[in-house]
Amino acid sequence: MASQQALTELAKRRGFFFGANEAYGGTAGFYTFGPEGAALKRNVESAWREQFTLRLGNEEIEAPTVMPEPVFEASGHLDGFDDMLIECAECGESHRADHLIEDAVADIEDAEALGVDRVEELIRDHDLACPTCGADLAGEPVEDFNLMFETSIGPGSGQPGYLRPETAQGIFVEFPRLKEYARGQLPFGITQIGPAYRNEISPRRGIIRVREFTQAELEQFIDPEEDEPPLEAVEDVEVTLYPVSEQHADDGEYIETTIGEAVDDAIITSPWVAYFLGVAQGWYERVGVDMDRFRFRQHLSGERAHYAADCWDAESEIGGNWIEIAGFAYRGDYDLTKHGEHSEDRFTVFKRYDEPKTVETATVDPDMAALGPEFGGAAGDVADALQALAESDPDAFDGDEVTVEIDGEIYTVDTEVANFSVEEQTENGEHITPHVVEPSFGVGRTVYTLLEHAYSEDEVDDETRTYLSLAPEIAPTDVAVFPLVSNDDALIDVASDLADELRAAGISVSYDDSGSIGRRYRRQDEVGTPFCVTVDQDGLEGDDETTVTLRERDSAAQLRLPVADLAAELEAVFDGDREFADLQDRYERVDTDVTTD
Ligand code: AMP
Repeated sequence: MASQQALTELAKRRGFFFGANEAYGGTAGFYTFGPEGAALKRNVESAWREQFTLRLGNEEIEAPTVMPEPVFEASGHLDGFDDMLIECAECGESHRADHLIEDAVADIEDAEALGVDRVEELIRDHDLACPTCGADLAGEPVEDFNLMFETSIGPGSGQPGYLRPETAQGIFVEFPRLKEYARGQLPFGITQIGPAYRNEISPRRGIIRVREFTQAELEQFIDPEEDEPPLEAVEDVEVTLYPVSEQHADDGEYIETTIGEAVDDAIITSPWVAYFLGVAQGWYERVGVDMDRFRFRQHLSGERAHYAADCWDAESEIGGNWIEIAGFAYRGDYDLTKHGEHSEDRFTVFKRYDEPKTVETATVDPDMAALGPEFGGAAGDVADALQALAESDPDAFDGDEVTVEIDGEIYTVDTEVANFSVEEQTENGEHITPHVVEPSFGVGRTVYTLLEHAYSEDEVDDETRTYLSLAPEIAPTDVAVFPLVSNDDALIDVASDLADELRAAGISVSYDDSGSIGRRYRRQDEVGTPFCVTVDQDGLEGDDETTVTLRERDSAAQLRLPVADLAAELEAVFDGDREFADLQDRYERVDTDVTTD
Protein backbone atom coordinates (compact mmCIF):
# COMPACT_ATOMS: atom_id res chain seq x y z
CA MET A 1 0.00 0.00 0.00
CA ALA A 2 1.30 3.46 -0.83
CA SER A 3 1.68 6.12 1.80
CA GLN A 4 -0.05 9.30 0.72
CA GLN A 5 3.30 11.02 0.66
CA ALA A 6 4.92 8.36 -1.56
CA LEU A 7 2.04 8.48 -4.01
CA THR A 8 1.88 12.28 -4.11
CA GLU A 9 5.61 12.39 -4.68
CA LEU A 10 5.39 9.84 -7.49
CA ALA A 11 2.40 11.67 -8.98
CA LYS A 12 4.38 14.89 -9.09
CA ARG A 13 7.67 13.40 -10.30
CA ARG A 14 6.10 11.31 -13.05
CA GLY A 15 3.54 13.87 -14.21
CA PHE A 16 0.28 12.39 -12.92
CA PHE A 17 -0.95 15.43 -11.01
CA PHE A 18 0.37 18.39 -9.08
CA GLY A 19 -0.94 21.53 -7.38
CA ALA A 20 -1.99 24.12 -9.96
CA ASN A 21 -0.53 27.62 -10.32
CA GLU A 22 2.54 26.81 -8.26
CA ALA A 23 4.46 29.62 -9.99
CA TYR A 24 2.05 31.96 -8.21
CA GLY A 25 2.18 30.27 -4.85
CA GLY A 26 -0.41 27.59 -5.69
CA THR A 27 -4.19 27.68 -5.26
CA ALA A 28 -5.60 25.31 -2.67
CA GLY A 29 -8.08 22.86 -4.11
CA PHE A 30 -6.97 23.10 -7.75
CA TYR A 31 -4.82 20.47 -9.44
CA THR A 32 -3.35 20.03 -12.89
CA PHE A 33 -3.26 16.56 -14.39
CA GLY A 34 0.11 16.17 -16.09
CA PRO A 35 0.67 14.10 -19.25
CA GLU A 36 0.44 10.71 -17.50
CA GLY A 37 -2.48 11.76 -15.28
CA ALA A 38 -4.44 13.34 -18.12
CA ALA A 39 -4.03 10.14 -20.17
CA LEU A 40 -5.07 8.00 -17.21
CA LYS A 41 -8.08 10.21 -16.49
CA ARG A 42 -9.09 10.15 -20.16
CA ASN A 43 -8.95 6.35 -20.15
CA VAL A 44 -11.14 6.21 -17.02
CA GLU A 45 -13.63 8.53 -18.72
CA SER A 46 -13.61 6.42 -21.89
CA ALA A 47 -14.18 3.23 -19.92
CA TRP A 48 -17.05 4.93 -18.05
CA ARG A 49 -18.57 6.19 -21.29
CA GLU A 50 -18.24 2.75 -22.83
CA GLN A 51 -20.18 1.19 -19.91
CA PHE A 52 -22.65 3.81 -18.74
CA THR A 53 -23.44 5.50 -22.04
CA LEU A 54 -22.87 2.98 -24.81
CA ARG A 55 -23.49 -0.43 -23.23
CA LEU A 56 -26.54 0.79 -21.31
CA GLY A 57 -27.94 2.41 -24.45
CA ASN A 58 -27.93 5.97 -23.13
CA GLU A 59 -27.15 9.32 -24.76
CA GLU A 60 -24.43 11.77 -23.73
CA ILE A 61 -24.73 15.55 -23.69
CA GLU A 62 -22.44 18.48 -22.93
CA ALA A 63 -24.08 21.43 -21.18
CA PRO A 64 -22.50 24.76 -20.07
CA THR A 65 -20.72 24.93 -16.72
CA VAL A 66 -22.09 28.40 -15.87
CA MET A 67 -25.81 28.55 -15.18
CA PRO A 68 -28.07 31.45 -14.15
CA GLU A 69 -29.30 31.94 -10.60
CA PRO A 70 -32.93 30.82 -11.12
CA VAL A 71 -31.68 27.30 -11.95
CA PHE A 72 -30.19 26.99 -8.48
CA GLU A 73 -33.13 28.66 -6.80
CA ALA A 74 -35.22 25.89 -8.31
CA SER A 75 -32.76 23.06 -7.64
CA GLY A 76 -32.41 24.02 -3.97
CA HIS A 77 -28.65 24.57 -4.17
CA LEU A 78 -28.91 28.27 -3.37
CA ASP A 79 -30.61 27.51 -0.07
CA GLY A 80 -29.39 24.07 0.86
CA PHE A 81 -25.96 23.39 -0.60
CA ASP A 82 -24.04 24.37 2.51
CA ASP A 83 -21.23 23.06 4.67
CA MET A 84 -20.56 24.08 8.26
CA LEU A 85 -17.87 26.71 8.55
CA ILE A 86 -15.94 27.78 11.62
CA GLU A 87 -13.24 30.42 11.39
CA CYS A 88 -10.36 30.73 13.84
CA ALA A 89 -10.31 34.27 15.27
CA GLU A 90 -6.59 33.90 15.98
CA CYS A 91 -5.10 32.77 12.64
CA GLY A 92 -8.06 33.33 10.32
CA GLU A 93 -8.01 29.74 9.01
CA SER A 94 -11.38 28.25 7.98
CA HIS A 95 -12.38 24.72 8.95
CA ARG A 96 -15.25 22.31 8.37
CA ALA A 97 -16.88 22.39 11.81
CA ASP A 98 -18.47 18.96 11.35
CA HIS A 99 -15.12 17.41 10.41
CA LEU A 100 -13.51 18.81 13.59
CA ILE A 101 -16.17 17.02 15.62
CA GLU A 102 -15.82 13.77 13.69
CA ASP A 103 -12.03 13.82 14.15
CA ALA A 104 -12.26 14.58 17.88
CA VAL A 105 -15.30 12.68 19.17
CA ALA A 106 -14.99 8.92 18.86
CA ASP A 107 -18.63 7.90 18.41
CA ILE A 108 -19.73 10.68 16.03
CA GLU A 109 -19.34 9.73 12.39
CA ASP A 110 -21.77 12.11 10.76
CA ALA A 111 -21.73 15.46 12.53
CA GLU A 112 -23.34 17.25 9.58
CA ALA A 113 -26.61 15.55 10.46
CA LEU A 114 -26.58 17.14 13.94
CA GLY A 115 -27.19 20.72 12.77
CA VAL A 116 -25.32 23.98 13.35
CA ASP A 117 -26.40 24.61 16.95
CA ARG A 118 -25.48 21.16 18.20
CA VAL A 119 -22.10 21.26 16.43
CA GLU A 120 -21.37 24.66 18.02
CA GLU A 121 -22.29 23.18 21.40
CA LEU A 122 -20.06 20.12 20.86
CA ILE A 123 -17.09 22.32 19.92
CA ARG A 124 -17.61 24.16 23.22
CA ASP A 125 -18.15 20.98 25.28
CA HIS A 126 -15.03 19.31 23.89
CA ASP A 127 -12.86 22.45 24.07
CA LEU A 128 -11.83 21.98 20.47
CA ALA A 129 -8.81 23.91 19.24
CA CYS A 130 -7.86 25.25 15.81
CA PRO A 131 -5.93 22.49 13.99
CA THR A 132 -3.72 25.15 12.40
CA CYS A 133 -2.65 27.35 15.33
CA GLY A 134 -4.03 25.61 18.42
CA ALA A 135 -6.20 28.56 19.53
CA ASP A 136 -9.42 27.83 21.39
CA LEU A 137 -12.43 27.53 19.05
CA ALA A 138 -15.11 27.38 21.78
CA GLY A 139 -17.36 30.38 21.41
CA GLU A 140 -16.63 30.89 17.69
CA PRO A 141 -19.83 30.84 15.64
CA VAL A 142 -20.55 27.97 13.25
CA GLU A 143 -22.20 29.11 10.02
CA ASP A 144 -23.74 27.51 6.97
CA PHE A 145 -21.45 28.31 4.04
CA ASN A 146 -22.81 27.93 0.50
CA LEU A 147 -20.37 25.95 -1.64
CA MET A 148 -21.25 27.44 -5.00
CA PHE A 149 -18.85 29.75 -6.86
CA GLU A 150 -20.75 32.87 -7.83
CA THR A 151 -20.09 34.81 -10.99
CA SER A 152 -21.73 37.47 -13.08
CA ILE A 153 -23.02 36.76 -16.57
CA GLY A 154 -22.43 39.65 -19.00
CA PRO A 155 -20.83 43.05 -18.44
CA GLY A 156 -21.57 45.41 -15.56
CA SER A 157 -23.53 43.94 -12.74
CA GLY A 158 -24.94 41.51 -15.33
CA GLN A 159 -27.04 38.60 -14.30
CA PRO A 160 -25.95 36.49 -11.31
CA GLY A 161 -24.74 33.06 -12.27
CA TYR A 162 -22.97 30.12 -10.64
CA LEU A 163 -20.48 27.50 -11.70
CA ARG A 164 -22.49 24.30 -11.58
CA PRO A 165 -21.88 22.31 -8.38
CA GLU A 166 -22.92 19.07 -10.14
CA THR A 167 -23.20 18.22 -13.82
CA ALA A 168 -26.73 16.91 -13.19
CA GLN A 169 -28.46 20.30 -13.36
CA GLY A 170 -27.28 20.72 -16.96
CA ILE A 171 -29.27 17.60 -17.78
CA PHE A 172 -32.37 18.46 -15.74
CA VAL A 173 -32.86 21.96 -17.18
CA GLU A 174 -32.74 20.55 -20.72
CA PHE A 175 -35.29 17.85 -19.93
CA PRO A 176 -38.05 19.42 -22.09
CA ARG A 177 -35.82 19.05 -25.17
CA LEU A 178 -34.23 15.78 -24.17
CA LYS A 179 -37.62 14.11 -23.72
CA GLU A 180 -38.52 15.10 -27.28
CA TYR A 181 -35.28 13.58 -28.45
CA ALA A 182 -36.32 10.40 -26.61
CA ARG A 183 -39.69 10.67 -28.42
CA GLY A 184 -41.42 11.10 -25.07
CA GLN A 185 -40.74 7.47 -24.16
CA LEU A 186 -39.62 6.46 -20.70
CA PRO A 187 -37.31 5.08 -19.50
CA PHE A 188 -34.30 6.88 -20.97
CA GLY A 189 -30.91 7.83 -19.65
CA ILE A 190 -28.73 10.87 -20.29
CA THR A 191 -25.07 11.01 -19.32
CA GLN A 192 -22.56 13.79 -18.99
CA ILE A 193 -18.87 13.89 -18.16
CA GLY A 194 -17.52 17.29 -17.21
CA PRO A 195 -16.30 19.68 -14.56
CA ALA A 196 -18.20 20.59 -11.40
CA TYR A 197 -17.19 23.26 -8.92
CA ARG A 198 -17.52 23.44 -5.16
CA ASN A 199 -15.87 26.09 -3.05
CA GLU A 200 -14.84 23.52 -0.43
CA ILE A 201 -14.06 25.05 2.98
CA SER A 202 -10.94 22.99 3.50
CA PRO A 203 -9.77 21.11 0.42
CA ARG A 204 -7.55 18.25 1.48
CA ARG A 205 -5.86 14.96 0.70
CA GLY A 206 -4.51 15.91 -2.71
CA ILE A 207 -7.07 15.39 -5.45
CA ILE A 208 -9.58 13.74 -3.10
CA ARG A 209 -11.32 16.95 -2.02
CA VAL A 210 -10.80 19.72 -4.54
CA ARG A 211 -12.67 22.79 -5.72
CA GLU A 212 -12.84 21.84 -9.38
CA PHE A 213 -13.34 18.19 -10.28
CA THR A 214 -14.76 16.03 -13.03
CA GLN A 215 -17.99 14.16 -12.59
CA ALA A 216 -19.39 11.40 -14.75
CA GLU A 217 -23.12 11.30 -14.17
CA LEU A 218 -26.06 9.33 -15.50
CA GLU A 219 -29.59 10.61 -15.01
CA GLN A 220 -32.00 7.74 -15.58
CA PHE A 221 -35.55 8.98 -16.14
CA ILE A 222 -38.22 6.43 -15.26
CA ASP A 223 -41.94 6.03 -14.85
CA PRO A 224 -41.98 4.91 -11.19
CA GLU A 225 -45.17 2.91 -11.71
CA GLU A 226 -44.17 1.03 -14.83
CA ASP A 227 -40.45 0.88 -15.43
CA GLU A 228 -38.29 -1.82 -13.96
CA PRO A 229 -34.55 -2.23 -14.45
CA PRO A 230 -33.14 -5.35 -16.17
CA LEU A 231 -32.13 -6.69 -12.76
CA GLU A 232 -31.50 -10.19 -14.13
CA ALA A 233 -28.37 -8.84 -15.83
CA VAL A 234 -26.72 -8.17 -12.45
CA GLU A 235 -28.63 -10.33 -9.95
CA ASP A 236 -25.68 -12.67 -9.37
CA VAL A 237 -23.12 -9.91 -8.96
CA GLU A 238 -21.51 -10.20 -5.51
CA VAL A 239 -21.32 -7.05 -3.45
CA THR A 240 -20.18 -5.89 -0.02
CA LEU A 241 -22.93 -3.78 1.54
CA TYR A 242 -22.86 -1.59 4.64
CA PRO A 243 -26.51 -0.62 5.20
CA VAL A 244 -27.76 1.91 7.77
CA SER A 245 -28.87 -0.87 10.17
CA GLU A 246 -25.32 -2.25 10.37
CA GLN A 247 -23.82 1.22 10.75
CA HIS A 248 -26.08 1.80 13.75
CA ALA A 249 -25.43 -1.61 15.34
CA ASP A 250 -22.70 -1.88 17.99
CA ASP A 251 -21.09 -4.83 16.27
CA GLY A 252 -22.21 -3.80 12.79
CA GLU A 253 -20.80 -5.88 9.97
CA TYR A 254 -20.64 -5.82 6.22
CA ILE A 255 -23.21 -7.91 4.40
CA GLU A 256 -21.69 -10.06 1.69
CA THR A 257 -24.51 -10.83 -0.70
CA THR A 258 -25.63 -10.62 -4.31
CA ILE A 259 -27.60 -7.82 -5.90
CA GLY A 260 -30.58 -10.15 -6.42
CA GLU A 261 -30.62 -11.22 -2.76
CA ALA A 262 -30.12 -7.67 -1.52
CA VAL A 263 -33.31 -6.67 -3.36
CA ASP A 264 -35.22 -9.76 -2.19
CA ASP A 265 -34.16 -9.09 1.41
CA ALA A 266 -35.07 -5.38 1.04
CA ILE A 267 -31.55 -4.29 2.01
CA ILE A 268 -31.61 -2.14 -1.10
CA THR A 269 -35.17 -0.94 -1.51
CA SER A 270 -35.00 0.60 -4.98
CA PRO A 271 -34.41 -2.03 -7.69
CA TRP A 272 -33.04 0.75 -9.91
CA VAL A 273 -30.42 1.74 -7.35
CA ALA A 274 -29.59 -1.96 -6.90
CA TYR A 275 -29.23 -2.38 -10.66
CA PHE A 276 -26.75 0.47 -10.93
CA LEU A 277 -24.77 -0.82 -7.93
CA GLY A 278 -24.44 -4.12 -9.78
CA VAL A 279 -23.31 -2.45 -13.00
CA ALA A 280 -20.88 -0.24 -11.06
CA GLN A 281 -19.39 -3.21 -9.18
CA GLY A 282 -18.47 -4.84 -12.51
CA TRP A 283 -17.09 -1.60 -13.87
CA TYR A 284 -14.89 -0.87 -10.86
CA GLU A 285 -13.51 -4.38 -11.05
CA ARG A 286 -12.80 -3.96 -14.74
CA VAL A 287 -10.86 -0.70 -14.34
CA GLY A 288 -8.73 -2.13 -11.53
CA VAL A 289 -10.18 -1.14 -8.15
CA ASP A 290 -9.05 -3.66 -5.51
CA MET A 291 -12.44 -5.16 -4.61
CA ASP A 292 -11.14 -6.17 -1.16
CA ARG A 293 -10.85 -2.44 -0.48
CA PHE A 294 -14.27 -1.49 -1.81
CA ARG A 295 -17.80 -1.37 -0.39
CA PHE A 296 -21.23 0.16 -0.93
CA ARG A 297 -22.40 2.18 2.09
CA GLN A 298 -25.94 3.45 2.56
CA HIS A 299 -26.33 7.10 3.56
CA LEU A 300 -27.54 7.80 7.07
CA SER A 301 -30.73 9.86 7.03
CA GLY A 302 -29.08 13.16 8.05
CA GLU A 303 -26.35 12.70 5.47
CA ARG A 304 -28.58 12.61 2.41
CA ALA A 305 -28.54 15.55 0.02
CA HIS A 306 -31.65 17.72 -0.07
CA TYR A 307 -32.90 15.94 -3.19
CA ALA A 308 -32.22 12.30 -2.30
CA ALA A 309 -34.86 9.83 -1.12
CA ASP A 310 -32.32 7.01 -0.73
CA CYS A 311 -28.63 7.00 -1.44
CA TRP A 312 -25.76 4.53 -1.47
CA ASP A 313 -22.12 5.46 -1.92
CA ALA A 314 -19.38 3.46 -3.56
CA GLU A 315 -16.43 3.78 -1.21
CA SER A 316 -12.82 2.79 -1.64
CA GLU A 317 -10.26 2.38 1.07
CA ILE A 318 -7.42 4.82 0.68
CA GLY A 319 -4.63 5.05 3.23
CA GLY A 320 -6.84 3.46 5.90
CA ASN A 321 -9.80 5.78 5.27
CA TRP A 322 -13.01 5.09 3.39
CA ILE A 323 -13.57 7.66 0.64
CA GLU A 324 -16.78 8.20 -1.31
CA ILE A 325 -15.97 7.72 -4.98
CA ALA A 326 -19.53 7.63 -6.35
CA GLY A 327 -23.05 8.26 -5.14
CA PHE A 328 -26.19 6.40 -6.26
CA ALA A 329 -29.23 8.49 -5.40
CA TYR A 330 -32.92 7.94 -5.89
CA ARG A 331 -33.84 11.59 -6.55
CA GLY A 332 -37.55 10.90 -7.12
CA ASP A 333 -39.41 13.66 -8.97
CA TYR A 334 -37.70 16.38 -6.90
CA ASP A 335 -35.63 18.05 -9.63
CA LEU A 336 -38.12 17.94 -12.49
CA THR A 337 -40.97 19.12 -10.27
CA LYS A 338 -38.90 22.06 -9.02
CA HIS A 339 -37.81 23.11 -12.51
CA GLY A 340 -41.42 22.74 -13.67
CA GLU A 341 -42.59 25.05 -10.89
CA HIS A 342 -39.86 27.67 -11.37
CA SER A 343 -39.68 27.82 -15.17
CA GLU A 344 -42.02 28.36 -18.08
CA ASP A 345 -41.48 24.91 -19.53
CA ARG A 346 -43.09 21.53 -18.99
CA PHE A 347 -41.00 18.94 -17.16
CA THR A 348 -43.46 16.09 -17.62
CA VAL A 349 -44.04 13.40 -20.21
CA PHE A 350 -47.38 12.42 -21.64
CA LYS A 351 -48.21 8.87 -20.63
CA ARG A 352 -50.71 7.33 -23.00
CA TYR A 353 -53.27 4.92 -21.49
CA ASP A 354 -53.56 1.45 -23.04
CA GLU A 355 -57.23 2.23 -23.68
CA PRO A 356 -58.75 5.74 -23.73
CA LYS A 357 -60.63 6.43 -20.50
CA THR A 358 -64.03 8.05 -20.23
CA VAL A 359 -64.20 10.36 -17.25
CA GLU A 360 -67.18 12.21 -15.90
CA THR A 361 -66.66 15.82 -14.92
CA ALA A 362 -69.21 17.57 -12.76
CA THR A 363 -69.55 21.30 -13.41
CA VAL A 364 -71.88 24.16 -12.49
CA ASP A 365 -72.74 27.21 -14.55
CA PRO A 366 -74.48 29.40 -11.94
CA ASP A 367 -76.98 31.99 -13.12
CA MET A 368 -75.22 35.12 -11.89
CA ALA A 369 -78.31 37.26 -12.68
CA ALA A 370 -79.95 35.35 -9.82
CA LEU A 371 -76.93 34.98 -7.47
CA GLY A 372 -75.89 38.67 -7.74
CA PRO A 373 -79.07 40.26 -6.35
CA GLU A 374 -79.36 37.54 -3.71
CA PHE A 375 -75.81 37.44 -2.30
CA GLY A 376 -74.30 40.79 -3.42
CA GLY A 377 -70.49 40.88 -3.04
CA ALA A 378 -70.38 37.22 -1.95
CA ALA A 379 -71.91 35.99 -5.26
CA GLY A 380 -68.53 35.22 -6.89
CA ASP A 381 -67.35 33.22 -3.87
CA VAL A 382 -70.63 31.32 -3.80
CA ALA A 383 -70.18 30.40 -7.49
CA ASP A 384 -66.63 29.14 -6.77
CA ALA A 385 -67.83 27.17 -3.76
CA LEU A 386 -70.56 25.55 -5.89
CA GLN A 387 -67.95 24.46 -8.45
CA ALA A 388 -65.75 23.00 -5.70
CA LEU A 389 -68.75 21.16 -4.25
CA ALA A 390 -69.71 19.79 -7.69
CA GLU A 391 -66.24 18.26 -8.00
CA SER A 392 -66.04 16.88 -4.46
CA ASP A 393 -69.66 15.79 -3.88
CA PRO A 394 -71.87 15.78 -7.02
CA ASP A 395 -74.69 14.06 -5.07
CA ALA A 396 -75.20 17.30 -3.13
CA PHE A 397 -77.01 18.63 -6.21
CA ASP A 398 -79.69 15.85 -6.17
CA GLY A 399 -82.31 17.88 -4.23
CA ASP A 400 -84.10 21.18 -4.96
CA GLU A 401 -81.61 23.18 -2.95
CA VAL A 402 -77.90 23.04 -2.32
CA THR A 403 -75.93 24.69 0.49
CA VAL A 404 -72.33 25.88 0.66
CA GLU A 405 -70.39 27.26 3.59
CA ILE A 406 -68.04 30.23 3.21
CA ASP A 407 -66.12 31.54 6.23
CA GLY A 408 -68.63 29.93 8.59
CA GLU A 409 -71.69 31.38 6.82
CA ILE A 410 -74.22 29.13 5.11
CA TYR A 411 -75.56 30.06 1.65
CA THR A 412 -78.53 28.20 0.18
CA VAL A 413 -79.00 28.15 -3.61
CA ASP A 414 -81.75 26.69 -5.83
CA THR A 415 -80.30 23.71 -7.71
CA GLU A 416 -81.74 25.16 -10.93
CA VAL A 417 -79.84 28.41 -10.39
CA ALA A 418 -76.61 26.42 -9.85
CA ASN A 419 -77.11 24.81 -13.28
CA PHE A 420 -75.39 21.55 -12.38
CA SER A 421 -74.40 19.08 -15.10
CA VAL A 422 -72.14 16.08 -15.59
CA GLU A 423 -70.07 15.96 -18.78
CA GLU A 424 -68.32 12.94 -20.20
CA GLN A 425 -64.81 13.36 -21.53
CA THR A 426 -62.45 10.95 -23.22
CA GLU A 427 -58.85 11.04 -21.96
CA ASN A 428 -56.03 9.36 -23.86
CA GLY A 429 -53.42 9.69 -21.14
CA GLU A 430 -51.96 11.93 -18.47
CA HIS A 431 -48.90 14.10 -17.89
CA ILE A 432 -46.56 12.50 -15.37
CA THR A 433 -43.32 13.73 -13.82
CA PRO A 434 -40.65 11.07 -14.28
CA HIS A 435 -38.53 9.95 -11.35
CA VAL A 436 -34.75 10.15 -11.55
CA VAL A 437 -32.15 7.60 -10.47
CA GLU A 438 -28.63 8.98 -10.51
CA PRO A 439 -25.27 7.24 -10.47
CA SER A 440 -22.75 10.06 -9.97
CA PHE A 441 -19.04 9.24 -10.21
CA GLY A 442 -16.08 11.39 -9.22
CA VAL A 443 -13.46 10.84 -11.90
CA GLY A 444 -10.54 12.31 -9.92
CA ARG A 445 -11.29 10.14 -6.89
CA THR A 446 -11.49 7.09 -9.15
CA VAL A 447 -8.11 7.99 -10.65
CA TYR A 448 -6.62 8.38 -7.16
CA THR A 449 -8.09 5.05 -6.04
CA LEU A 450 -6.66 3.28 -9.08
CA LEU A 451 -3.21 4.74 -8.42
CA GLU A 452 -3.34 3.80 -4.74
CA HIS A 453 -4.61 0.31 -5.38
CA ALA A 454 -2.11 -0.25 -8.20
CA TYR A 455 0.91 1.01 -6.26
CA SER A 456 3.26 -1.93 -5.68
CA GLU A 457 6.82 -2.62 -4.70
CA ASP A 458 8.94 -5.74 -5.21
CA GLU A 459 12.48 -6.97 -5.74
CA VAL A 460 13.62 -7.29 -9.33
CA ASP A 461 17.22 -7.95 -10.33
CA ASP A 462 18.26 -7.39 -6.69
CA GLU A 463 16.73 -3.96 -6.60
CA THR A 464 13.55 -2.65 -5.04
CA ARG A 465 11.30 -1.28 -7.71
CA THR A 466 8.02 0.62 -7.59
CA TYR A 467 5.44 -0.16 -10.21
CA LEU A 468 1.82 0.66 -10.89
CA SER A 469 -0.13 -2.46 -11.64
CA LEU A 470 -2.76 -0.57 -13.66
CA ALA A 471 -5.27 -2.41 -15.86
CA PRO A 472 -3.97 -2.29 -19.46
CA GLU A 473 -7.18 -0.53 -20.55
CA ILE A 474 -6.54 2.28 -18.07
CA ALA A 475 -2.74 2.64 -18.10
CA PRO A 476 -1.67 6.00 -19.59
CA THR A 477 0.58 4.31 -22.17
CA ASP A 478 0.11 0.87 -23.69
CA VAL A 479 3.65 0.08 -24.76
CA ALA A 480 7.09 1.64 -24.47
CA VAL A 481 9.60 0.98 -27.24
CA PHE A 482 13.36 1.23 -26.65
CA PRO A 483 16.48 0.67 -28.71
CA LEU A 484 18.79 -1.42 -26.48
CA VAL A 485 21.50 1.21 -26.56
CA SER A 486 21.14 4.88 -27.26
CA ASN A 487 24.18 5.36 -29.47
CA ASP A 488 23.40 3.01 -32.32
CA ASP A 489 21.67 4.78 -35.21
CA ALA A 490 20.53 1.56 -36.86
CA LEU A 491 18.83 0.39 -33.64
CA ILE A 492 17.28 3.82 -33.11
CA ASP A 493 15.85 3.81 -36.65
CA VAL A 494 14.32 0.36 -36.28
CA ALA A 495 12.93 1.11 -32.82
CA SER A 496 11.35 4.41 -33.82
CA ASP A 497 9.86 2.84 -36.97
CA LEU A 498 8.42 0.08 -34.78
CA ALA A 499 6.93 2.71 -32.43
CA ASP A 500 5.24 4.38 -35.43
CA GLU A 501 3.95 1.05 -36.70
CA LEU A 502 2.36 0.24 -33.32
CA ARG A 503 0.85 3.73 -33.11
CA ALA A 504 -0.68 3.19 -36.55
CA ALA A 505 -2.30 0.04 -35.14
CA GLY A 506 -4.06 2.22 -32.53
CA ILE A 507 -1.71 1.39 -29.65
CA SER A 508 -0.45 4.30 -27.50
CA VAL A 509 3.32 4.21 -27.50
CA SER A 510 6.05 5.97 -25.63
CA TYR A 511 9.50 5.94 -27.23
CA ASP A 512 12.53 6.32 -24.97
CA ASP A 513 16.21 6.09 -25.82
CA SER A 514 17.77 7.89 -22.87
CA GLY A 515 19.65 6.22 -20.02
CA SER A 516 20.35 2.56 -19.29
CA ILE A 517 17.75 0.00 -20.32
CA GLY A 518 17.16 -0.79 -16.64
CA ARG A 519 16.35 2.83 -15.86
CA ARG A 520 13.99 2.99 -18.79
CA TYR A 521 12.15 -0.10 -17.51
CA ARG A 522 11.86 1.48 -14.05
CA ARG A 523 10.47 4.69 -15.49
CA GLN A 524 7.78 2.78 -17.37
CA ASP A 525 7.04 0.59 -14.33
CA GLU A 526 6.42 3.73 -12.29
CA VAL A 527 3.83 5.04 -14.74
CA GLY A 528 2.22 1.64 -15.12
CA THR A 529 3.05 0.90 -18.77
CA PRO A 530 2.00 -2.75 -19.18
CA PHE A 531 4.59 -3.69 -21.83
CA CYS A 532 8.05 -2.63 -22.95
CA VAL A 533 9.59 -3.68 -26.26
CA THR A 534 13.36 -3.59 -26.64
CA VAL A 535 15.05 -3.73 -30.03
CA ASP A 536 18.55 -5.23 -30.01
CA GLN A 537 20.84 -6.60 -32.70
CA ASP A 538 18.37 -9.42 -33.44
CA GLY A 539 15.92 -6.75 -34.47
CA LEU A 540 18.11 -5.70 -37.35
CA GLU A 541 17.82 -8.84 -39.44
CA GLY A 542 15.10 -7.36 -41.61
CA ASP A 543 13.48 -10.74 -42.37
CA ASP A 544 11.08 -13.17 -40.70
CA GLU A 545 13.79 -14.06 -38.19
CA THR A 546 13.80 -10.56 -36.77
CA THR A 547 12.89 -10.67 -33.09
CA VAL A 548 12.45 -8.21 -30.25
CA THR A 549 12.10 -8.55 -26.48
CA LEU A 550 8.68 -8.04 -24.94
CA ARG A 551 8.66 -7.40 -21.20
CA GLU A 552 5.56 -7.56 -19.04
CA ARG A 553 5.35 -5.04 -16.21
CA ASP A 554 4.09 -6.97 -13.17
CA SER A 555 6.11 -10.17 -13.62
CA ALA A 556 9.07 -8.41 -15.29
CA ALA A 557 9.13 -11.55 -17.48
CA GLN A 558 10.75 -11.14 -20.89
CA LEU A 559 9.88 -13.03 -24.06
CA ARG A 560 11.49 -13.05 -27.45
CA LEU A 561 9.02 -12.85 -30.32
CA PRO A 562 9.11 -12.13 -34.05
CA VAL A 563 8.58 -8.47 -34.72
CA ALA A 564 6.06 -9.45 -37.40
CA ASP A 565 3.77 -10.90 -34.69
CA LEU A 566 4.11 -8.04 -32.24
CA ALA A 567 1.29 -5.64 -33.23
CA ALA A 568 -1.29 -8.43 -33.58
CA GLU A 569 -0.31 -10.07 -30.25
CA LEU A 570 -0.47 -6.77 -28.38
CA GLU A 571 -3.78 -5.80 -29.92
CA ALA A 572 -5.23 -9.17 -28.84
CA VAL A 573 -3.99 -8.59 -25.28
CA PHE A 574 -5.39 -5.06 -25.15
CA ASP A 575 -8.73 -6.19 -26.56
CA GLY A 576 -8.91 -8.76 -23.76
CA ASP A 577 -8.84 -11.67 -26.24
CA ARG A 578 -5.51 -12.99 -24.98
CA GLU A 579 -3.54 -13.08 -21.72
CA PHE A 580 0.17 -12.53 -21.38
CA ALA A 581 0.31 -16.13 -20.04
CA ASP A 582 -0.75 -17.36 -23.51
CA LEU A 583 2.22 -15.58 -25.01
CA GLN A 584 4.47 -17.14 -22.37
CA ASP A 585 3.35 -20.59 -23.57
CA ARG A 586 4.21 -19.83 -27.16
CA TYR A 587 7.35 -17.72 -27.09
CA GLU A 588 10.84 -18.26 -25.75
CA ARG A 589 11.57 -16.77 -22.35
CA VAL A 590 14.67 -14.61 -21.97
CA ASP A 591 16.37 -14.34 -18.61
CA THR A 592 18.62 -11.37 -18.74
CA ASP A 593 19.38 -9.41 -15.62
CA VAL A 594 18.68 -5.77 -16.19
CA THR A 595 20.54 -3.33 -14.02
CA THR A 596 19.74 0.32 -13.73
CA ASP A 597 23.37 1.41 -13.93
P1 AMP B 1 -22.10 14.20 -4.63
O1 AMP B 1 -22.95 14.99 -5.56
O2 AMP B 1 -21.61 14.99 -3.44
O3 AMP B 1 -22.66 12.85 -4.26
O4 AMP B 1 -20.77 13.92 -5.45
C1 AMP B 1 -20.71 12.95 -6.44
C2 AMP B 1 -19.28 12.49 -6.59
O5 AMP B 1 -18.45 13.60 -6.96
C3 AMP B 1 -18.68 11.98 -5.28
O6 AMP B 1 -18.93 10.62 -5.13
C4 AMP B 1 -17.21 12.25 -5.47
O7 AMP B 1 -16.61 11.19 -6.17
C5 AMP B 1 -17.18 13.49 -6.34
N1 AMP B 1 -16.89 14.69 -5.52
C6 AMP B 1 -17.74 15.40 -4.77
N2 AMP B 1 -17.12 16.44 -4.19
C7 AMP B 1 -15.83 16.38 -4.58
C8 AMP B 1 -14.66 17.18 -4.32
N3 AMP B 1 -14.72 18.27 -3.57
N4 AMP B 1 -13.49 16.82 -4.88
C9 AMP B 1 -13.42 15.74 -5.67
N5 AMP B 1 -14.47 14.95 -5.97
C10 AMP B 1 -15.66 15.26 -5.43
